[in-house]
Amino acid sequence: MIYLDNAATTRVFDRAISAASEVMRERFYNPNATYESGVKARESIEHARRTIADAVGAAADELIFTSCATESNNWIFACGKKYKKGNIVITAGEHASVYEPAMQLKSRGDDVRIAPLTADGNVDENALLSLVDEETSLVSLIHVNNETGVVNDIERLVAAVKARSPRAYVHSDGVQGLLKTGMPLRDLGVDFYSASAHKLGAPKGIGLLYVKHGINISPYLSGGGQERNLRSGTQNTPYIAAFAAAVEEFGKANDRMRISALRAELCEYFVSHGCKIVGNHNNSGYIACVLVPNVKAEILQNVAHDSGVVIGKGAACSGSKRGNRVLSAMGLKQNEIESCIRLSLFADTKRDDALEAAHIIIDAARRLGSKHVG
Ligand code: PLP
Repeated sequence: MIYLDNAATTRVFDRAISAASEVMRERFYNPNATYESGVKARESIEHARRTIADAVGAAADELIFTSCATESNNWIFACGKKYKKGNIVITAGEHASVYEPAMQLKSRGDDVRIAPLTADGNVDENALLSLVDEETSLVSLIHVNNETGVVNDIERLVAAVKARSPRAYVHSDGVQGLLKTGMPLRDLGVDFYSASAHKLGAPKGIGLLYVKHGINISPYLSGGGQERNLRSGTQNTPYIAAFAAAVEEFGKANDRMRISALRAELCEYFVSHGCKIVGNHNNSGYIACVLVPNVKAEILQNVAHDSGVVIGKGAACSGSKRGNRVLSAMGLKQNEIESCIRLSLFADTKRDDALEAAHIIIDAARRLGSKHVG
């Protein structure tokens, strides 16, 4: 199988599997126990935290481990109202794990404002700033969109938001951005940043929330007081070790320039065969949203799968709600949205495989009767 659905999840690095199994075999003790074996298990966590912090450009004590980025994102909205009152601003490009919690607050009467996207897929900066005022308490801006790969300039947006509302906290969903934009977390200027390990070659079920030094957040899960009293629950020691191993492996294997050049080559190929690329400006280089005219993405995805190519369409984790909200916010019509496939690359994507997959997809589109694909 040629796997090009890395924005949905990635293959787990062998070293991440070994790191997890070693902890499960040798350091299975409760990391909060005070006897020596427990202390050693705890050391595995703290070692992993430092490794990840060094790689992402944060201090170790700014990283809180969670079960996934969905949890990290929900935390921001569940606890946001506890520490500050005021309106909330999000963008129309948010993942469901930001959008839905924000909508829940809105349905309970909170003032939640949604900044539109430009046709390029970035948040419309002027519109965003017109929604932010001195009463704004929280702004959530996706870093890299999971459907298009479009990158918001978080550093600039944070500065502009804080100039309007110094009291506002800024959160960014960095699931598709962590380690992929080359920007250290501390330089982004955000107060909170969510990330997920399974997009970086680690197993599913482990994520993190970055909380900038000096920023207070109420605990989301209360109980035994783990994770500096902020996120109770016995830590997932094996997967935390796997997360750190994956971050190291990703650092060694990843070549952003190569991936970005490969994406550009793929896009050129699709365009030369009558397709359109959605969200091609300011792209992270890891995701290509390809509009294949007059072909239903769902059918094309299945035909490609039968031919040995795994691709995505819309947002893989949104079930039946997938795809439509973000692409329609960019101005795509329903029939265009239904024709959008997503190819997403990772550190281990080989050029020959990706180009072969592109041929297979175009061939499949022709067989499905797309007159526009040449
Ligand atoms: N945010 C974005 C941008 C995503 O792409 C995803 C998953 O695809 C998530 C959040 C949710 O991450 P997790 O699977 O760790 O809950």
